[in-house]
Amino acid sequence: MAPHLSRKRLARALSEDGDPAEADAAVAHLLACRPCQDLAAEELGAGSARPRLSQKGNAFRTLFKSEECRALDQLRCEGWWAELAGLAPEEQRERVRSVLALQSKKMFEVVIAEASRLAADDPYVGEEMALTARVIAALLPRNRHSEKARNDLQGEALIVVAKCRRLGADWPGSKAALQEAWSHLGRGTGDPKQECRLLSIAASLASDTGNLESALGLLARAEERARATRDAGLVVGVAVKVANTLLAGCRFEEALGRAEEALQLLSPGDSRLEMLARSIATECLIELGRPTRALRSFLATRALYDAPWGRPTRLKVDYLKARLLDAFGHVRESEKALRVVIAGHIAEGTYKDAFLYTLTLFDSLCRRGALGKAAELCEEAAGLTDTPFCHSQMGKGLGRAARPGEVAGADRGPAAGGAALHPPALERPGGPPAAGRRLAGPGRARSLAAGSPARRGPGAAGPAV
Ligand SMILES: [Zn+2]
Repeated sequence: MAPHLSRKRLARALSEDGDPAEADAAVAHLLACRPCQDLAAEELGAGSARPRLSQKGNAFRTLFKSEECRALDQLRCEGWWAELAGLAPEEQRERVRSVLALQSKKMFEVVIAEASRLAADDPYVGEEMALTARVIAALLPRNRHSEKARNDLQGEALIVVAKCRRLGADWPGSKAALQEAWSHLGRGTGDPKQECRLLSIAASLASDTGNLESALGLLARAEERARATRDAGLVVGVAVKVANTLLAGCRFEEALGRAEEALQLLSPGDSRLEMLARSIATECLIELGRPTRALRSFLATRALYDAPWGRPTRLKVDYLKARLLDAFGHVRESEKALRVVIAGHIAEGTYKDAFLYTLTLFDSLCRRGALGKAAELCEEAAGLTDTPFCHSQMGKGLGRAARPGEVAGADRGPAAGGAALHPPALERPGGPPAAGRRLAGPGRARSLAAGSPARRGPGAAGPAV
């Protein structure tokens, strides 16, 4: 790149009587160089008294001024929100209704971004914030925001509400929010990005409640919408979610294919999606009895796992390590590692994952003939959740531990006893329920857990898009 522009050269290049060739070179540099843009913004701002800027100089001044206004608007809204966030939800909404300055699109964006950010860590607080954002969207000035645009934003807020309720295992509440969101989007501009998000959350909800075929149908529709947005990140995000849902349904070959396809489509630097896709591929390879490739897949992305993704990802990586150890016959080391992962999930309150991984360990113990330990594990796991579903599955597990010959081919249909909630009305008629499917390999445990209510945490339901 050419050397940076000096203050003097900038002033000369952007003035009305500057040399055109010099102005062209300066503009080309400015468009690509952030430090020189900062210098130009300062120079043009300070020189507002300068009477004679060239056309290009005026264009830059307008651009910088508008950037400055947007940034200040953002800072002001963040400041207001910092104050509002400390109030009780009803007080927040009351303040929003009574203060006109809070009824702006920027304010909506600040609040909904915060609600989305908090969704995984504290879905209850996230939900309340998203409901406040919805009030803001409904109150946006009609002379500046069309009815359709306001409907889009209310739909967007309700999608976040549905996501938070799902993460808090309030499935009927999540379904109700999705239906309401769908109704708003139906009266909106037809934004495919929001429709894609809605279908994606609906698919997660279907997956959580054991309706894997419905989840795949919803994801197929989400993929169509994602392609319409031409947003590559959204397309890959949905593809990863499809792979994860196929994995949850024990369709390992297909899940592997979709995960590998997603990896091909990834933009460089999208390490979060790469990590998710690689983890799915590694797990599929373990399930398919290809431990060498699974180990190589794990090692290929080892560096990605070191990023500070948070505790849930750390536990997922430790789970993959335990599965790899098991696949290579290091059963005792695998058992220890799995028990640490299970304890970690219990500590985090992600009981669904704890339950799922307990079944994986149970399966491993049965395969190596450690039936006493398997029976003890069933007793421990029965206390994990108080749902009748989990108790009935654990009861079956105990029975099978006593009759090991039946374990390997046991029928553990996922929806067998699950509290089957149907996804919202936007769902297409789904395929046949997964109940009764005969599963093989330790991965069948995940399908079992797909029908079990969890207090919080998406577990096997996969990445949010
Ligand atoms: Zn420069």
